[in-house]
Amino acid sequence: MNALTSLADIVGSRHLIEAEALRERPQDFWNNVPTRALALVRPASVEEVSAVLAWCNRNGSPVVPEGGRTNLIQGTAASPEAVLLSTERLNQFDAPDLGAMTVQAGSGVVLQALQESCHAAGLRFGLDFGARGSATLGGALSTNAGGFQALRYGVARDQVRGLEVVLADGTVLSHLTPYAKDNTGYDLKHLFIGSEGTLGVITRAILRLHPAPVTANTALLSFTDFDAVTRTLSRLRRDLQGTLSSFEIMWREFFEFNVDALCGGRSPLSESCPFYVLCEAEGFAPDMDDARFEAVIMQALDAGDVKDAVIAQSARQRDELWRIREDFEAEQELFRVMIDFDISLPLSAMDAFSREVDEALNTHIPEFLGLHILGHLGDGNLHVTTGLPTPERSDDLKALVYGLIAKHGGSISAEHGIGLNKRDYLGYSRSPEEIATMRLLKKALDPKNTLNPGKILQ
Ligand SMILES: Cc1cc2nc3c(=O)[nH]c(=O)nc-3n(C[C@H](O)[C@H](O)[C@H](O)COP(=O)(O)OP(=O)(O)OC[C@H]3O[C@@H](n4cnc5c(N)ncnc54)[C@H](O)[C@@H]3O)c2cc1C
Repeated sequence: MNALTSLADIVGSRHLIEAEALRERPQDFWNNVPTRALALVRPASVEEVSAVLAWCNRNGSPVVPEGGRTNLIQGTAASPEAVLLSTERLNQFDAPDLGAMTVQAGSGVVLQALQESCHAAGLRFGLDFGARGSATLGGALSTNAGGFQALRYGVARDQVRGLEVVLADGTVLSHLTPYAKDNTGYDLKHLFIGSEGTLGVITRAILRLHPAPVTANTALLSFTDFDAVTRTLSRLRRDLQGTLSSFEIMWREFFEFNVDALCGGRSPLSESCPFYVLCEAEGFAPDMDDARFEAVIMQALDAGDVKDAVIAQSARQRDELWRIREDFEAEQELFRVMIDFDISLPLSAMDAFSREVDEALNTHIPEFLGLHILGHLGDGNLHVTTGLPTPERSDDLKALVYGLIAKHGGSISAEHGIGLNKRDYLGYSRSPEEIATMRLLKKALDPKNTLNPGKILQ
């Protein structure tokens, strides 16, 4: 029997898409090249995922799991002989358990659908980022995504109580426990979270939830120096009494570029400043939260740390402010060969790092097309994006920036993962001993190297 017939027998022929039809869809959100693969299968249950993986393992076929394909690391890129395993049909989720404050969900559920269902029950799923309308729970867990609210609720890993995973040979590991405390030996779920589909395919999870805030206050602030930004972060953390949920920094070049692209150059703030912050507090006391937020922002202005501020007066204004931070369409056009860095750095190193990158690019790669820096400052996470007219000097540019990240003791991937894009630079952040231990784990769980081969490790 040929491969396609065997796989169609498992998932049903309607749920197997052959190579030719796949060529019509882009590889992922960021790479407009055709998808290459032997076929794509869409299993509807853990049993079908297990049967697909067992078949591929027996026959030595590479398998690439995919969710919403919004990753920035070429994590779902496939070779022509690979089978793509889409979690699209693993998208069921239960009603939230109000007492336990948990929800059980399939890995193919789209984040926004899960967020909305929890919200309707008065609860909050504490993971949110720009790709919420397409990214899946499985993709977010596999990349250990962060996003806008990690400051308050932690990263994807922190949302998980129990996990169901299928190993490369089809073995199902199901530990769908809802408990906050569960010290029964090795915590296996954390091996699979953040492993980018190289150790197992996540099929279901039990997630912890939080009470849904009922108020939201959003402000855009400007600053003349970086130390004032970090002082304001400390002030807001303390004086907003635990309600601060986002603190997003934008360097001037990115902010003004997006204000030009989205608001016809009309900035919500009067003067140009080197740093801008979009901050948001979400609370539970409608009669107090607005006044406290305004008072805390006023104190920061009076202290001279914040140069200027605008507080959103309506949901529409709030969306407009967030759009300046979240919209990357114009940037994608500007940076023809886009090169992005997603890094963690000590707060104390960020200002110097940004100046050094700017200086190094001007000196060594003068053809670069601009430098956009922004990020989730409260988590010590910056996104540094630049571009080149043509790809020839991409590796020189990457080596230069990765060298500066290593010099400041940073991480080369804060929240997007490694995939193919950053694989060759893993050694800038992890020691040879750590990488050797990662290889040992990969070999133990996937000895035939069929699961997402070549991602993270060569
Ligand atoms: C506009 C935009 C904004 C973004 N902002 C952020 C942000 O603020 N913070 C952040 O962390 N990320 C951000 N991202 C990237 C983010 O990591 C991904 O969007 C998301 O986590 C991946 O989910 P996905 O379903 O698209 O996964 P995919 O892209 O389909 O897959 C991602 C990786 O996980 C693997 N995988 C997918 N599903 C499974 C599964 N069930 N089991 C095992 N492996 C699996 C894939 O093989 C791949 O290696 C952004 C992306 C976009 C497009």
